Amino acid sequence: MFKKVLIANRGEIAVRIIRACREMGIRPVAVFSDVDRTALHVRLAEEALPLGGSHPSETYLNIDKIIALARSSGAEAIHPGYGFLAENARFVERCEKEGIVFVGPPSRPMELMGQKTTSRQVMSKAGVPIIPGTLEPVQSEKDLRDSAERIGYPLLLKASGGGGGKGLRLVRQAGELESNFRLARSEADSSFGDPSIYVEKYIEDPHHIEVQILADHHGRTVYLGERECSLQRRYQKVLEETPSPFLDEKTRRFMGRTAVKAAASIGYRNAGTVEFIVDSRRNFYFLEMNARLQVEHPITEMVTGIDLVKKQFEIAAGMPLGLEQKDIRPQGHALECRIYAEDPDNDFLPSPGRIIHLHTPAGGLGIREDSGIYEGYNVPFEYDPLLAKLIAWGKTREEAVQRMRRALSEYRIYGIKTTVPFFQRILSHPQFLAGLYSTHFIGNLEKGPAKENNEEKLAAVLAAGLKSYFAIHKTDSPPTAAKTGGWKLQGRLQNLADRL
Ligand code: ADP
Repeated sequence: MFKKVLIANRGEIAVRIIRACREMGIRPVAVFSDVDRTALHVRLAEEALPLGGSHPSETYLNIDKIIALARSSGAEAIHPGYGFLAENARFVERCEKEGIVFVGPPSRPMELMGQKTTSRQVMSKAGVPIIPGTLEPVQSEKDLRDSAERIGYPLLLKASGGGGGKGLRLVRQAGELESNFRLARSEADSSFGDPSIYVEKYIEDPHHIEVQILADHHGRTVYLGERECSLQRRYQKVLEETPSPFLDEKTRRFMGRTAVKAAASIGYRNAGTVEFIVDSRRNFYFLEMNARLQVEHPITEMVTGIDLVKKQFEIAAGMPLGLEQKDIRPQGHALECRIYAEDPDNDFLPSPGRIIHLHTPAGGLGIREDSGIYEGYNVPFEYDPLLAKLIAWGKTREEAVQRMRRALSEYRIYGIKTTVPFFQRILSHPQFLAGLYSTHFIGNLEKGPAKENNEEKLAAVLAAGLKSYFAIHKTDSPPTAAKTGGWKLQGRLQNLADRL
């Protein structure tokens, strides 16, 4: 095993990796920008080296500086975390050339998965179902119109080099096509330095469900169950859970095997995630592959008992996986809330600043908090405002939800605004509690509260939700107040639940 590893990241994920290093007897080397001088990851690591500067391009994205620090500190490997250089194939090549182990996949599969159009071509060849659409970026407005005609509306324009929900444009009819194309191109150009756009069929009311895989250098690839990531704001995940309340066993297994096939077809190694879009009839389509550790990896760890970061180190060191598919038997249910320094009452505007008081709920059975903050810490505005991730495990979904609600109610962060109150609202919403939500759930909530005139609609949705709840939980009693931590079906909804 490695003796020393450099962690090319910051925030909660750097802390998470430091912890795995400690438990494995590896000496972690932290790096930090000027504004991060007092950050938690710097305080926790035995050795912390300055990158100099604050802008990402001169710090955590600066390949030359990071390689130089790895060399001077004597680190044998670099763990990139997620974001920053984690999916930069040039960085991986550079590590390969310098003889430093990159804790992640080789550069080739990473490169293949880096461009959405390339990954669609590769997966389609490997027999993995992809979302109907173009395999190449559109070349002209005529090409665009022809493709749109062939695929049919509604459709989604996507940046080939995209990520983070940027450059996505929904087009419902032909009249909106060209103006949206021009907007998507300019957004893609300014965000990714690449204006190329391709076209995908827009799947109505879909689920985003992803499969965690692990692949070693000895020819073994396994899947570790799925994560339901449909609770999204503006195409970005905010809460994840596993198992997905929407999947049945047969689809779950099929998706797992498909993810393994996808990874094996490109010679993938280390931890990775295959993302799928799932339609309302549970047909699933490859969306993209994330060639790295995901933000939401802890929920998989909670149900499988497998430490994914340790596995990443073992695989990178050339050790065999030591696991077969039959050894992976997820237990119970886990949820994760992403706690951001954002103001949910003010359109989720970032809310950097000093944390004057902090009480975290990281106590009690089944609660875990992966955090990058402490009392007195100044949350900088330069970086992603993710403060911490609160993770709850329970024997059942109901227990995990109850624990999460309990933990959220204990959270005290004074001095900045956070998304804690937003999660409290979500976690007491009947539709969420019934486990029936698609990627549109939060968008619909934000359009307005469920008032009387759409109670019918809500009732219909809830009825469908209860049906799938009964099927999944093999029960015929509705989720009662006791099971949902105090939430009660009210009025006509209760009548409806009683009738079902
Ligand atoms: P990014 O890489 O920018 O995050 P993705 O391709 O991963 O973009 O998609 C982000 C989200 O957009 C998905 O989780 C899903 O909610 C939505 N989405 C993407 N493609 C489709 C599609 N074809 N139909 C419906 N929704 C989609």
